[in-house]
Amino acid sequence: MLNFTFHNPTRILFGEGRIADLGGEIPSGARVLITYGGGSVVKTGTLDEVKAALQNVTVFEFGGIEPNPTYETLMQAVELARRECIDFLLAVGGGSVIDGTKFIAAAIPFVGEPWDILAKRAPIQSAVPFGSVLTLPATGSEMNSGSVITKGATQDKLAFMHPLLFPVFSVLDPTRTYTLPPRQVANGVVDAFVHIAEQYLTYPVDARVQDRFAEGLLLTLVEEGPKALAEPGNYDVRANLMWTATLALNGLIGAGVPQDWATHMLGHELTALHGLDHAQTLAIVLPAMLQVRRTQKRDKLLQYAERVWNLRDGSEDERIDAAIRHTRAFFESLGVPTRLADYGIGAEAIPPLLDKLAQHGMTALGERQDVTLEQSRQVYELALS
Ligand code: NAP
Ligand code: FE
Repeated sequence: MLNFTFHNPTRILFGEGRIADLGGEIPSGARVLITYGGGSVVKTGTLDEVKAALQNVTVFEFGGIEPNPTYETLMQAVELARRECIDFLLAVGGGSVIDGTKFIAAAIPFVGEPWDILAKRAPIQSAVPFGSVLTLPATGSEMNSGSVITKGATQDKLAFMHPLLFPVFSVLDPTRTYTLPPRQVANGVVDAFVHIAEQYLTYPVDARVQDRFAEGLLLTLVEEGPKALAEPGNYDVRANLMWTATLALNGLIGAGVPQDWATHMLGHELTALHGLDHAQTLAIVLPAMLQVRRTQKRDKLLQYAERVWNLRDGSEDERIDAAIRHTRAFFESLGVPTRLADYGIGAEAIPPLLDKLAQHGMTALGERQDVTLEQSRQVYELALS
């Protein structure tokens, strides 16, 4: 096992009705800015439920944070927050709203151009505290310190993280996910699956607890994902999915093990240039990435084949082939296509994607930093059709 420091300060309020408890998590007298997306939380009543739970605070609202949140939109919230001396933020929505709120939290006190936090890795000295009410299990953003922001003007989708950007608390009420469209349910399952894969399908370091946690989470997604689509109002299914997606990326299974993230980096360029949903890009890239990296990932792919897909017959290469096939078939079974051609993207798209990777310094990716631009080209090519 590798050395690690593990500290996750986010308080989780889990279960039906827990939104009512969030008032106690916010300091009395705070000036609170509620942030939300394109209006789903207005339609579903979640926003009203949140407002009803707030006591002894002054409430402001900022809606309109888009999927794959943009710097341009978020800076409007930063201006509002600075003007109104906001001292607490409350994100109500999916990963985009929570990620966007992390940027707002860091940008409010930032001296200089806040985009430099992403583009130049400018140091964050302080951040406004924030909480979240999650409506879409997928990203793990509700219990991690990472965020992915897009600059619309230049089509740059970049990630950043900072210990000050863990939510103080997150409310996870599974009933708030009943209204998700099937596409977003499926996206959430795929995103969580790939988060686990990025921390599990690396080289072995004899981290048995992390491996078995990861396998347990993967098996839960395989079992519960299809049920969430078939039975949207099944509380237990939603609860299991919600907690799985959170545990998939809250630092626990990634502590003490090598981490990959190449699939995410190649996926971000696809969203930035072609507007695909985050999870759609991952469903395209992961099977191709595993194929291109099968030699480096051999031991873990065999373990994955056996423990997640129960594949025990045939040669080692046949089992690895079958594991990759099962992974692709699982994504497809949820309704998420896994090839670039399925989204109308052809070979002419690859050079600009590689240019963006190069521009963003993504030339040595993966757990051993040996995924070169040439390998990324192979991955995109293999993903074509
Ligand atoms: P999302 O972009 O937050 O939301 C997708 C759509 O789902 C929106 O149109 C939203 O509508 C709708 N929606 C959300 N909750 C709903 C509900 N309960 N009922 C009905 N509709 C609902 O999706 P996401 O997958 O959670 O987040 C994706 C973003 O997170 C990407 O930018 C990705 O790069 C990033 N990400 C972050 C991390 C991390 O660790 N921080 C990890 C992976 C990915 P409204 O806008 O109307 O609310
Ligand atoms: Fe993700």
